[in-house]
Formats: sequence, C-alpha cells, structure tokens
Amino acid sequence: MKKTLLIFLYILVFSIFVISQLFQPPIKNSYITASFGEYRDTGMDPHFHTGIDFSTFSRKGEPVYPAAEGSLYKIWLNDPLYGNAIFLYHEDSDLISGYAHLSVFSDKISNYSQLVQNEFGNQRIEIIFPKGGIPIKLNEVIAYSGDTGEAIAPHLHFEVLKQSGEEFIIYDPLEFLEYQESRNKSLELMRIRSNNKYFEVTENGETVVEYTGNFPRIDIRVREKLGNNSTILPKKVSMYINGVLTYKLDFSIIKESEIYKAGFVFGYDSTSSIYWLKMYSDNYLSSIVINDFSAFSNETSTTLNLNGEIVLEDIWGNEKVYKLKFIKP
Ligand SMILES: [Zn+2]
Repeated sequence: MKKTLLIFLYILVFSIFVISQLFQPPIKNSYITASFGEYRDTGMDPHFHTGIDFSTFSRKGEPVYPAAEGSLYKIWLNDPLYGNAIFLYHEDSDLISGYAHLSVFSDKISNYSQLVQNEFGNQRIEIIFPKGGIPIKLNEVIAYSGDTGEAIAPHLHFEVLKQSGEEFIIYDPLEFLEYQESRNKSLELMRIRSNNKYFEVTENGETVVEYTGNFPRIDIRVREKLGNNSTILPKKVSMYINGVLTYKLDFSIIKESEIYKAGFVFGYDSTSSIYWLKMYSDNYLSSIVINDFSAFSNETSTTLNLNGEIVLEDIWGNEKVYKLKFIKP
C-alpha cells in the first residue's frame, strides 16, 4: 500500500517536473522584456501580443536555439508582423514553437527558403513542411535574431501554439519554459477610471472610487515591473465586490480568432507599455474567465456603497491586493 502511494507520488512529481521543463529559452542567458496578452497597436490593427519577447541585448545576430527537439513546421518571410519567422513542430507535446523578427536563418533552413525567395523575391512567403520531414536537434542554431517585421528594436519574439481543429490556440509560453526570473518584481495598480473620472490609488489604504448604475464598471491601469527596464502585463487580474468574485482576466490562452479583439479587454489610451484593463465586458473572450455581476444586477438602492478588491497575480506566484470603496457620487 505504502509502496503504491510512493510510486504514485513519484509519477506525479516526475510528470510535473517534465511538463514544467518542456521548453528551454531560445536565447541563451537572456531575460524577457514583454509578456503574453499585452496590448499592441503598432503596425496593423490593435491586437494581443501572442508570445513573449526575449532581449537580444539590443543586437542583431544573436544565435536562436529551438525550445526543444522537433521538426521544421513552417517558415514565413517578410510577414508584416513577424518578419522572418520559423515555426517548429514538437511531436511529444503536439505543440508548435515560433521564433520571429529573425535576421537570417541557419544555412540548413536557408537552403529551403532561398529557392522560393529566388523565385518570388521580397513578397510575403509561407513555406509549410511535412511534419517530421526536417528534424531539428536541441542544440542546433536555427537562426540569428533581428528586427524584421513589427519590431521597434532588435529582439526575439517567441510563441507556443497548438492546432485545434480548424484554428490555432496560442498559449503563454512562460507556462512551458524552464525560465528563471531573478529581477525584482513589482505588481502595481496605478490608476482607476470610472464615470469618466480618474482616481489615484492609495497604497496600503482604501481607494475611493465613484460609480453610477447598478454596479461599478471601471478601467484600471496595471503593470508589473521587472527590475528597472521591463514592464509587463500581470498574468491574472481579479475584481471582488462585497466579497463576490465578479470579474477575472487570465492571460493564459488566446484563440487565433481572438487576436484582433484586444479592444474587448483593453480600454482607451492603452499602448504596448500602458495597460488600461476594462473590469467588465459585454463580450466573450478566452481571457475573460469570470464575468458575473448578477449579484448586483437588481440593486434598487441609489446610495449604495460597495467594498471592492482588486487582486493582481503574476506567473511566479506573487500577488498584490488593493482595497477599494465604491461610492455613489
Ligand atoms: Zn513579441
């Protein structure tokens, strides 16, 4: 009996270990500068950031490694967003890893792209390979980093996706990566917007926010600072009203069909480093995991004060709680 339990525990621990170490970072000794789900309004229409960005130390030409062993899945050339990009297929997990803004591919991969490029020039080109056809080893350099496509400065964009029926589901790559974040982390609720007014947030106190209607419909400006030079989006943001979890955003999954629906969760004045999150929605989206104001929909009182709480969480298990008092003006 005891032995069975031990074996079971061993299998459980071992499988958690394996899952959490599925992928290695594609740039050696680097750190992230942007997170999954962030708002992007550069280039084409506003959209979600569908991966994470790794610093290439402001340089082009840093060697890019596969996140895991796999095979060449597809190549994009001159994509307006991704620039030159490589996608690998990993059979064990059925996941696809993507690497974008590359300057040049490895000689092995260039052999395939050059033929097509000679024929079609600098148009946007997609080359799809049969799964498993061109194996890629773990420590093989697949490309060199750059700033092609929608990249203000040189960096490596990395993403993880899976084909699900007709569309792709895109995941937060940090959930699969063996990545240590050693910089100081600071989750921050900076300002609140409600009723077309701005309310400054009181740290360690109670921020008073005006609202009208049956329940508060607020926008909040949030961020997580990593060290001195990176600002990312908190992974999860929850709102409680009188102890009831009414609204929760969780940036873990974005469906391909949702990429250009960033306006459903981000409010006006959002940029790639300023995140105004709407803490209410009339729409459905994978990242809106709780949207239930039913406890407050039949409120008849016109002078009702409500207690609020905003909880920010990151992927490393840090959490910060802010107390609010919602009042009728
Ligand atoms: Zn990116």
